[in-house]
Amino acid sequence: MDISKPHAALLSSPGMGHLIPVVELGKRLVTHHNFNVTIFAVTSPMSPAESDVIQSCMSPKLFDIVQLPPVDISGLVDANSMIVTQLSVMMREARPAIRSAISAWNPQPTLLIVDLFGTESLPIADELDIPKYVYIASNAWFLALTIRVPFFDKEVEGEYVDQVEPLRLPGCKSVRPEDVVDPMLDRTNQQYFEYVRIGSEIPRSDGILLNTWADLQPTSLAALRDEDLLGRVIKSSPIYPVGPLTRMVSASNGPMFDWLDMQPSESVIYVSFGSGGTLSYEQMTEIAWGLELSQQRFIWVARQPSIGAADAAFFTAGNAFGDDPLNYLPDGFLTRTKNVGLVVPLWAPQAEVLCHPSVGGFVSHCGWNSTLESITNGVPMIAWPLYAEQRINATLLTEELGVAIRSKVLPLKKVVGRQEIEKMVRTIMEDKEGNAIRARVKELKHSAEKALSMGGSSFNALSELANHCSMKVRAP
Ligand code: UDP
Repeated sequence: MDISKPHAALLSSPGMGHLIPVVELGKRLVTHHNFNVTIFAVTSPMSPAESDVIQSCMSPKLFDIVQLPPVDISGLVDANSMIVTQLSVMMREARPAIRSAISAWNPQPTLLIVDLFGTESLPIADELDIPKYVYIASNAWFLALTIRVPFFDKEVEGEYVDQVEPLRLPGCKSVRPEDVVDPMLDRTNQQYFEYVRIGSEIPRSDGILLNTWADLQPTSLAALRDEDLLGRVIKSSPIYPVGPLTRMVSASNGPMFDWLDMQPSESVIYVSFGSGGTLSYEQMTEIAWGLELSQQRFIWVARQPSIGAADAAFFTAGNAFGDDPLNYLPDGFLTRTKNVGLVVPLWAPQAEVLCHPSVGGFVSHCGWNSTLESITNGVPMIAWPLYAEQRINATLLTEELGVAIRSKVLPLKKVVGRQEIEKMVRTIMEDKEGNAIRARVKELKHSAEKALSMGGSSFNALSELANHCSMKVRAP
């Protein structure tokens, strides 16, 4: 390792949506900004998808990935506790292992970058006397809400979802009570306290990296940098919008891609609810009928339906538990749609599918990685938020960015019926009404390319961070 370069230790928490952006940040730091990188990853022991991501980093090997020993939290939290609680407890319990792995690494890191659930490990950087950063692998509006929540905790009485007025974020669009992130849904639940804690820990860092770019969210970014607005909350820590960092696609083949190759340009709608999303049986039935009635071509990544939790597959992404999801489709659906669509059980190589020229629409749960993969391929969306921060993402996509449409009522409040689904699919794929959305997403695709290219805003933001760290490396 060339010790004249800054050596970034990156800490990632369990979950595909957390691991992927950290890996992509690591690649970018090595290939474009002359860093040495070591990734310390706490992973979900039951997720083959996470193992695949780690494997894929072995060749070409740009950095080391240290997989920390799996943490058993079964004696500490109920198996049914919320995702944010489970992730927070896992990352807390992993701290001794994280500390010894990072401090024993030779040569010692010169900076530490943790993800959203790693903020309790920021003091490790203080012990090592190195700068510490938080990488929020999401957007600026989400960061604004997260750092404001410790204040709402003091100012707002009662449940957030019962508020009549939207929650004000100085300088940013306000958040509707029904859009609050999952941990804000119940102020008595442990995951709420964890979220408030995270919101108060982020401003203790020396800077915040975001997986967005300057031209995508100029207003929210300006508010985060303005001392009279949200800048005061983060004590003017520098903000580095470094995105969109998405998974690089690899050469793809197999029956699904052979089929895609035969379809007309932008004619296929891709339906998928992220690594953890699951639907009720009733909703699955309506989606099947909606797709069939729309007469559009489709690829649908289907999972066994769940009762209650919409994030049932989060820690087992890609794992073939339970029944075959195809057993839950309406009678005759596969036969009737065999010439126009494919149903893929559990998991598909999404980044590769979205960049195929035959794909022209995406029914998405609005996880931020999926959102970026869609925008960077110029694919318009039907926003179908399920859990985590997906409701604010859906609002951002539909009301601020103009790259998606959505159902009249939130999918988790009411089953979205087949006619509404049919109409949305047609709008996004072929109706005149969808022209503006299709044009806008292509504009943003180009703006994203510009931001990442040499001299672009995101490239410059990472260069600024690199320069800052190099100065520290050189300082006596
Ligand atoms: N993903 C995939 N195949 C699937 C489902 C998900 O490759 O069948 C990938 C997707 O491309 C994205 C990540 O898993 O990179 C999911 O992250 P996101 O932030 O969209 O949502 P989360 O799963 O964290 O809710």
